[in-house]
Amino acid sequence: MSKNEFQKREMRERRVPDGSQGEAPNVTLNIPKKGAEMTPMDAARAALKEVFGYDDFRPGQEDAVAAILRGRDVMAVMPTGAGKSICYQIPALVLEGVTLVVSPLISLMRDQVFALLQNGVRAAYLNSSLTPRQYALALENARRGTYKIIYVAPERLLTDSFLSFAKGAKIAQVVVDEAHCVSQWGQDFRPGYLQIAPFLRELPRRPRLSAFTATATQAVRADIVRLLELQNPYDILTGFDRPNLFFEVRRAKDRDAELRRFLAEHRGQSGVVYCGTRKGVEEVTAMLNDCGVDAVGYHAGMADELRAKAQEDFVADRAPVIVATNAFGMGIDKSNVSFVVHYNMPKDLESYYQEAGRAGRDGEDAVCCLLYQPGDVRLNTFLIDHAQDMSQMDEQTRQVVTARAKERLRQMTFYATGGGCLRAKILQYFGEKVEKPFCGNCSGCMAREEERDVSRQAGQIVAAVIAMNGRYGKATVARVLSGQADARLRERGLDKLSAFGSMKAEGEANVRAMIDELIAGDVLTVTEGDYPLLREGAYARDVLRGDMPIRMALLPTDAAPEIKRRVKQKEFVNKALYSRLSDLRKQIAMDQNVPPFIIFTNATLRDMAAKAPRTRAQMLRVAGVGEGKMQRYGDAFLREIAAYEEDEA
Ligand code: ADP
Ligand code: ZN
Repeated sequence: MSKNEFQKREMRERRVPDGSQGEAPNVTLNIPKKGAEMTPMDAARAALKEVFGYDDFRPGQEDAVAAILRGRDVMAVMPTGAGKSICYQIPALVLEGVTLVVSPLISLMRDQVFALLQNGVRAAYLNSSLTPRQYALALENARRGTYKIIYVAPERLLTDSFLSFAKGAKIAQVVVDEAHCVSQWGQDFRPGYLQIAPFLRELPRRPRLSAFTATATQAVRADIVRLLELQNPYDILTGFDRPNLFFEVRRAKDRDAELRRFLAEHRGQSGVVYCGTRKGVEEVTAMLNDCGVDAVGYHAGMADELRAKAQEDFVADRAPVIVATNAFGMGIDKSNVSFVVHYNMPKDLESYYQEAGRAGRDGEDAVCCLLYQPGDVRLNTFLIDHAQDMSQMDEQTRQVVTARAKERLRQMTFYATGGGCLRAKILQYFGEKVEKPFCGNCSGCMAREEERDVSRQAGQIVAAVIAMNGRYGKATVARVLSGQADARLRERGLDKLSAFGSMKAEGEANVRAMIDELIAGDVLTVTEGDYPLLREGAYARDVLRGDMPIRMALLPTDAAPEIKRRVKQKEFVNKALYSRLSDLRKQIAMDQNVPPFIIFTNATLRDMAAKAPRTRAQMLRVAGVGEGKMQRYGDAFLREIAAYEEDEA
């Protein structure tokens, strides 16, 4: 990071923690006094509109807000992008006293606090990024009741200074963000989270407590309730479906070419390309740069400054594409991510859905594309068998953990290769009731017309490969199954096999096509060398038992069925105005050294371009424009719209 940039960053961090400085006007909400007519829920709805600029709650939000306002503990599982923050930020505004939010990451806290200040809410964070002086100052302000919301790192809770503040403060509620960090079952276990319950016990009066996470598995949920000592929590489990995401699997012989093709189809958009390894990140970044794509790389092995710079360039829309390992993502609050491509298949659907779910958080249409090759299964199996973090476990535990990991991998592979509706598979995996078996908005559904269930035929092929002892290649197996006897075949007695001619009806070409698909799905594998032989793959037994449904598109077999994506035509009322508004946003963002989406999201700009407001009252009707943003930017954008209309006239 250059010195200049470093200073800017410093300034930003200095400005953020102290909501009393800077331009943040106080929000004047009509918080109901006792005896007033406005109910707390009325106040909550008013806050949604006035502070955040939204007309309606999203599913789950209203329930969460209402439960917190009633004084209940809350346990909320909501997928990424569902809008968890508002669930506790609105009660924070309505309730008397201060809200404490325990959060695992500095970057997450900084973004949240910054967004709140932009909306005119006094907020601050307390973590290790502050100097001792800044920290003391922020605590001093907190004591004076300056803030409505304080984000705090879990490790701070039991320190003397924080505890003495907390004991004397009027705490409206305590919120635990990314609550799965408390569980050792979760991927992000953070020992500091175990201090939350002891902290609450230290307080003279226990405030209401709510826990938020996007991780849905039973074991993690049970841990959250137990370890945070939630009291009879009100459960919120919103649907995991993300209707605006298009899911797509591309089986790519040449991943680089496929990735380039994908990026060409999404030129001008911003997105993430996840790679399985650091080396992969570097190679793919270099490959893209060679082809003139503005991509930056990101992985945990990079120097801190370089990594921070890559992230900032991506978030600020200076670099449209970031190529990253799974180290990238948590805590990155960029809403206008239009696509997430997985260059390699992840080890399970939890990881996949979490990473893919970073697309389209602004509610705009976005694409999640998985590039798949059979080698992915082998790599992941190897990684599971050689996992470092299992060396501490006893043999029996290790076996259980390995078996679970392999089952998850099996499900992931089934997602990539099995055909059928991708969305339905995801929802089923997360234990959700699937309303319709076909969503019509994924590559599985798009390819469906050409597909049929070939589970039985697949089983026949596997059986033949086993009967032939893995000693023959693809062509011979296909000839045997389709009953094409020749001298060589007879000589070896292959025409006497019960499999001989059992798939005559399919024809040799289709049998070959099916074999190719089964190889792609690691149901079968081929040996290396000049005469590749067909053998059982990892999932051969599942197919033989009929445990793994297989669907595929047959004939025409060359040219993989072109995916006919239904591109929903966006209602684009005024492109020219939108682009002017977008330029203005970029300017303001640069002046303030914040990412553009912090000023307004794309969805807000689009709505603004559509409505083209002329008055402040009209401006407030744009989704995403609340009082705070109106005061800050409303006039500038109104002027821009007026100037545009004048130019047009
Ligand atoms: P999560 O933490 O669940 O991943 P966020 O709280 O970051 O999600 O919200 C995701 C996006 O949705 C943000 O851009 C936010 O402003 C927007 N959002 C949240 N609630 C609403 C709502 N009721 N109406 C419209 N947009 C909303
Ligand atoms: Zn579908």
